[in-house]
Amino acid sequence: MTRRLSELLRVPPGAVDLRAIDPRGTPGLPRSAGKDPKTWARAQLPILGAELFAWQEKLFAQAKTGASRQRLLLLLQAMDCGGKDGTIKKVVGEFNPQGVHIVAFGKPTEEELAHDFLWRIERGLPGAGMIGVFNRSHYEDVLVVRVHNLVPPRTWRARYAKINRFERKLVADGCAVVKVMLHISPAEQKQRLLDRLDDPTKYWKYDSGDIDERALWPAYQDAYADALGKCDSDDAPWYVVPADRKWYRDWAVANLLLEKLRELSPAYPPADFDPDVERGRLVTQPEVNSG
Ligand code: ADP
Repeated sequence: MTRRLSELLRVPPGAVDLRAIDPRGTPGLPRSAGKDPKTWARAQLPILGAELFAWQEKLFAQAKTGASRQRLLLLLQAMDCGGKDGTIKKVVGEFNPQGVHIVAFGKPTEEELAHDFLWRIERGLPGAGMIGVFNRSHYEDVLVVRVHNLVPPRTWRARYAKINRFERKLVADGCAVVKVMLHISPAEQKQRLLDRLDDPTKYWKYDSGDIDERALWPAYQDAYADALGKCDSDDAPWYVVPADRKWYRDWAVANLLLEKLRELSPAYPPADFDPDVERGRLVTQPEVNSG
C-alpha cells in the first residue's frame, strides 16, 4: 500500500460532501487482493487480528503496573443497518474479550437527560490498558438530536466546540481515539432492511421506526457532514469507511486500528522483581502438597 489507509479514509479537509464518497468503494485495497478481493480480505482478517491481539496484550500489560494510562477508543457511528454490530463482531472480536470495554449509547434515560450530554460518555470511557468501543456516541447529540429538533439549534450548535474540547482532553490523558463513520448507501440500507424482513431469525433486529428514519436520509447526511467536518482533528481524526461491502469495511477498520496501535507502540513492562531470585525461591521451596 503506497498511502496509508488512515490518509486515504480521513475525512477531507473543508466542507464534507459525503455524496462524493462511494459507499461501494474499496480505497487502499492492494493489487495483491486479486480478482476475488472478498475472499482475500476475509482471509486477511485473522492475520490482522493476530497482530491486533498482540498489541492489545502489550497495551493491557503496560497498564497493569500503573505506569501507563494508554488506551484506545474506537468510536462507531452509522445510519441504521450501517454495520456497527457486524464490525464489532468481526473486528473487535479479534481482541481478547477481557481487555475490551464495549458501550452502546441508545436513547438517553431520564437520569442521563438530567445531566450534560457528555456525562454518560465520560462514564463509558475505557480504563487504562483497555480497548474501548462506542456503539454510537456523543455524536448522536449533534445527529439524531439535530434532525429531530430535540433541543434548540443554539444548543446543538454549541456542542461541536464542546466535543472538540472533550476529545482533546481525552487524548492528552492517554486515550487514543479512532472515529469511524460506516458509510452505506440508501439502496444498501433498503436491502438490509428487506433481508431482515425475509428472515425470522433477524426479526429481533428489525425496528419499524427505521423506515421513518430512512425518509430523513438527506437531513442525516447533512448532520453527519457537519459533525465530521467540525470535529475532525489530528488528535481525534474522523474516518469515512465505505461500508456497503462488509468484507472491505472489516478489513479497513482492522487496518485503522492496527495503524493506531503500531503508532502507540505499547510495550511489555519490565519486571519489578528479580526473575533469578524468584526462580531460586520457587525451586528451593519445600514441596507443596495438594492437601
Ligand atoms: P442500534 O440502532 O444502534 O442497534 P438501538 O436500536 O438501541 O441500537 O437504537 C438506539 C437509538 O437511540 C437510535 O435510534 C439512536 O438515534 C438513539 N439515540 C442515541 N443517542 C441518542 C441521543 N443522545 N438522543 C436521542 N436519541 C439517541
